[in-house]
Amino acid sequence: MSRTIVLASRNVKKTSEVAELLAPAGFTVVPVTEFPNVSEVEEDGDTFAANAAKKATEVAVALNQWVIGEDSGLRVDALNGAPGIYSARYSGPNATDAENNAKLITDLAGVPDDRRSAGYVCSVALSNPAGKIKIAVEGTCRGRILSEAHGSGGFGYDPYFLIREFHRTFGELSPLVKQKLSHRARAFARFIPLLQRIADEFQEQRSS
Ligand code: IMP
Repeated sequence: MSRTIVLASRNVKKTSEVAELLAPAGFTVVPVTEFPNVSEVEEDGDTFAANAAKKATEVAVALNQWVIGEDSGLRVDALNGAPGIYSARYSGPNATDAENNAKLITDLAGVPDDRRSAGYVCSVALSNPAGKIKIAVEGTCRGRILSEAHGSGGFGYDPYFLIREFHRTFGELSPLVKQKLSHRARAFARFIPLLQRIADEFQEQRSS
């Protein structure tokens, strides 16, 4: 295993957050978009974990390389967990963030502040080149959905996702804060030591 690992994501902002989370541990991320021959993975799993594993294994087998799969989204309590695994396409296939946000706010119209609690979820999986999952972890981050956008940082639902302790949305908070508190940060905090252990084992085998 090299310290350069493919990420099975076509989302540019997500990829850059993952790259920044892995960089301090000495890992470099290459997005799957660098490999034009790899076809898009159909996200037809019924959980975040199933989709993360599917992305990782399909791309790993296609490239014969170690691959990280990441699947994430927003679960709103008053909407029984929607948009959930459909977060990227909540308002339809190829939806933009603005279209998804507009649908979310419409769906929550009239719901009072104290019933607008929500959580981001991030599942991360590592597949070996043969398509076997070697790591599977999850991280979550709780917040509340505002009815108006605040700030323009982050991506997706971030301008509406209030972090209660900070009285600010992820759209307003500095990227440094998001990279400490987010569902993705929490998932990768679990993932990195396990990845490090696998990379170290490979290093030891090579030098023995
Ligand atoms: P995926 O690329 O299929 O995992 O879909 C991820 C979708 O979940 C994104 O398009 C966003 O709608 C939402 N999402 C996931 N993580 C975040 C985040 O950190 N901020 C805002 N929205 C997010």
